[in-house]
Amino acid sequence: MTTALNIALSKGRILEEGLPLLERAGIRPTENPLKSRKLILDTNLPEVKLTIIRAADVPTYVQFGAADLGIAGKDVLMEYEGDGLYELLDLKIARCRMMVAEPKSLASRDDPDSWTRLRIATKYVKTTQRHFAAKGIQTDIIKLYGSMELAPLVGLSDRIVDLVDTGNTLKANGLAEVEHIADISAWLVANRASMKMKQQALKSLVNRLEQAVA
Ligand code: AMP
Repeated sequence: MTTALNIALSKGRILEEGLPLLERAGIRPTENPLKSRKLILDTNLPEVKLTIIRAADVPTYVQFGAADLGIAGKDVLMEYEGDGLYELLDLKIARCRMMVAEPKSLASRDDPDSWTRLRIATKYVKTTQRHFAAKGIQTDIIKLYGSMELAPLVGLSDRIVDLVDTGNTLKANGLAEVEHIADISAWLVANRASMKMKQQALKSLVNRLEQAVA
């Protein structure tokens, strides 16, 4: 008997860069997830299904066993405070960095070593608090759900914490990077119970993904 395996992943960069990786691991959805409106997709392997959900929901699905495996950005995993999740493998896709950024004019005379209290707009509230608490810096955080780059332009906050890849979005909005918080990439995560109950099937899939990453 084959063991059913459900992999949760999100649309956007993770799906775009994850599909070629899954393909190299021998997993091909039977219809194009970039176009389909279906939320659960069959693959060429009858036992493997892909569940397409919001990025921030991937850890929740995996923790509660609604998916055996998930592909989630390290940014999402750092912000998620549940347990019951194993981080199995760095898939080395959707790579970027989490940075503190501020207007270029401020960056030219700002010294991060002198920071004692910061007002920051971000969607990464917990990660930002943790990062600065470890350095003894107090933070007043304004929670946003997107377009953090706008905050300094409209006077919400001078500083933001956001993901940066090419740096073009920051540059286009007159912002500059001032502090590195973390390197980010997508990770394969697994449900703790599935790791025990579906050990064989998971192991073989993880091995194939490991080779695909290499
Ligand atoms: P860039 O202009 O290439 O530096 O990209 C920055 C914009 O893309 C920001 O709005 C980021 O939030 C978003 N971004 C960059 N890399 C990623 C990623 N790996 N996953 C999700 N969003 C990203």
